[in-house]
Amino acid sequence: MSNLRGAYIDLAAIRENVTVLQDLAKNSEVMAVVKADAYGHGLIPTAKAARQGGANWLGTALLEEAIELRKAGDQGKILTWLGSPNDQWEKCVDLGIDVSVSSMEIAVSVIAGAKKCGKTAQVHIKVDTGLGRNGVSPKDLPELLDYLLDAKAQGLIEIVAVWTHFALADAPSSPTIMKQLEVLDESFKYISSKGIRNLMKHAANSAATLTAPHTHFDLVRPGIAVYGITPGGEVGPASEFGLRPAMTLKAEVALVKELPKGHGISYGSEYVTSKDTKIALIPLGYADGVPRIAGNKGVVLANGKTFNVAGRICMDQFMIDIDDLDLQAGDEVILFGDPAKNHPDVEQWAKASQSIGYEIITRLGPRVPRIYLNEI
Ligand SMILES: *Cc1c(COP(=O)(O)O)cnc(C)c1O
Repeated sequence: MSNLRGAYIDLAAIRENVTVLQDLAKNSEVMAVVKADAYGHGLIPTAKAARQGGANWLGTALLEEAIELRKAGDQGKILTWLGSPNDQWEKCVDLGIDVSVSSMEIAVSVIAGAKKCGKTAQVHIKVDTGLGRNGVSPKDLPELLDYLLDAKAQGLIEIVAVWTHFALADAPSSPTIMKQLEVLDESFKYISSKGIRNLMKHAANSAATLTAPHTHFDLVRPGIAVYGITPGGEVGPASEFGLRPAMTLKAEVALVKELPKGHGISYGSEYVTSKDTKIALIPLGYADGVPRIAGNKGVVLANGKTFNVAGRICMDQFMIDIDDLDLQAGDEVILFGDPAKNHPDVEQWAKASQSIGYEIITRLGPRVPRIYLNEI
């Protein structure tokens, strides 16, 4: 027997969400972004479901994430974009993983990797059009491109795409998006003018995929939307787009007991019972990724009623004050899941911890088992 404690991942939701995103971006290819262990959902099962849902691409930040996909047997197109100079470039090129180049240093490493394994690296040139993060600054593009063209002439690389990432990632109507697109377009024209044919262009994250069709271009790169969660900001609830959350975080009540009025609950007694009551102990804590800052604020569904966390969240557990609710040790509680089923929304936990849904799902720790539903 095993208890209920775990993150339940509905792979049917992943498949369907990818299909919804492909329908929204009809004329573009879809890259399901599966970095950070597929946003905490588990890399391999999630990636498989995303492929089944129609993702022609998978995207990862780290090179080792992309390599893991190949090792698990994925044979489709993969792009990885956050390598460092001493990274596993040779392995990526050898495994047919497309790589992003943002600087001279990375170009040198990629080309050295291609030479070593004797294969042609598939390169996406990333341009910093305004985010101020990764990507080559437009002023440095000519020098980088000259260097890459030289490698292309030697058959060491192909230039597949030019791409960028938005700064106001959750506000696709912001005027900064137009500005960034102009810079991307100039870069595209510049690279094309050097005789690069079939150059792809891509920019859209989830928010832009959902609400800004003029950013879809050849390829969209949704992450959070694949998991059925809104990027937040100016984008409404995920359900408005026909998306549903894949993850439900559950536990079973470990203990129920009575406490008298005026009794402190948890470290620091930051919650004190206002009358004779019962508390329930839930065996998930900050070591599992439940944010400690959500003490007295996080929400839990128990036997049809929602409760706030009572007192501080501990390393392994937290409590709720259930008053006279009929709840027994062994019963199910839900921290977040599908709002359509009256589960608390991951957004409520995001608000309770001054964060975003992204952080809530990606920070779930390894001590929370991932349990897969509807695998095919
Ligand atoms: C994480 C990431 C994405 C996906 O972003 P979402 O907001 O989760 O859709 C897309 N592109 C890049 C470069 C990323 O780092």
